[in-house]
Amino acid sequence: MANNPLQQYFRQPKIYISLPSQGVYSEPGTIEGDLTKIPVFGMTGMDEIMLRTADALLSGESTASVIKSCCPAIVNPWEISTLDIDLILASIRIATYGEDLQMIKTCENCGTENEYSVKLSRFIDHYLNCHYNNVIDLGHLKVTIRPLTYRQSQDFSFKNFSLQQRILQINDIKNEAERRKASDEIMKEITMLRNEVFATGIESVDTGTTVVDDRDFINEWISNSDQIIMKQINQHMEKNKLDWTIKPEITKCENCGHESFLSVELDQSNFFVNA
Ligand SMILES: [Zn+2]
Repeated sequence: MANNPLQQYFRQPKIYISLPSQGVYSEPGTIEGDLTKIPVFGMTGMDEIMLRTADALLSGESTASVIKSCCPAIVNPWEISTLDIDLILASIRIATYGEDLQMIKTCENCGTENEYSVKLSRFIDHYLNCHYNNVIDLGHLKVTIRPLTYRQSQDFSFKNFSLQQRILQINDIKNEAERRKASDEIMKEITMLRNEVFATGIESVDTGTTVVDDRDFINEWISNSDQIIMKQINQHMEKNKLDWTIKPEITKCENCGHESFLSVELDQSNFFVNA
């Protein structure tokens, strides 16, 4: 095909980002080029349509395809670590609509609709200053943990979503014994899913003489450990999660002065379309 004379007018990168994880939790080949200078383009019309497709949003398909379109250096968005996803989404939002995010919140006290403007650069700064502490010292053992990939995280939330749907359906079962049986079954599945998420987050266990990274060995160790050990690991993982979460802003109602928290969810369709 002949060179398109319009090519020089195609969209250009608006900003360049580096990733909080520095790519260490992604398979080689997930990102191409300089990891400290990843170009970010604004969204195309097609990207915006993708983000309005409910089914694709639920599976993460939309988000993955928009990341691929706006950050072409990210060859496989599914393999990106969850530590990086929110920064990437915030930067795509900035590259498309600028750094102000307008949000409307109804005051819980007087019902007034207040409009707030959130600066997305604050998000970028926050994530770049986050530190993911990946080693847990249990004394006799050192456990190395890792964040989930976007694919793992989406798979788990989808499974969780399906279980929540089934919980809702239980109420329709008329027979009490059957209802209880169905409820017990789901509780068991929820526990199993939780354990699976937990095990996936453990990369390896160092005994001092050997480093175990075999999945089956790690799973077997988890099922045969004192609960206090698993609690310690879980607390550490929760602390990482908390450190990573953007602290909600305190906002004041224009009408009555009532103070409340304003939190922003990044991986949502309205995040992109409320320009
Ligand atoms: Zn108010």
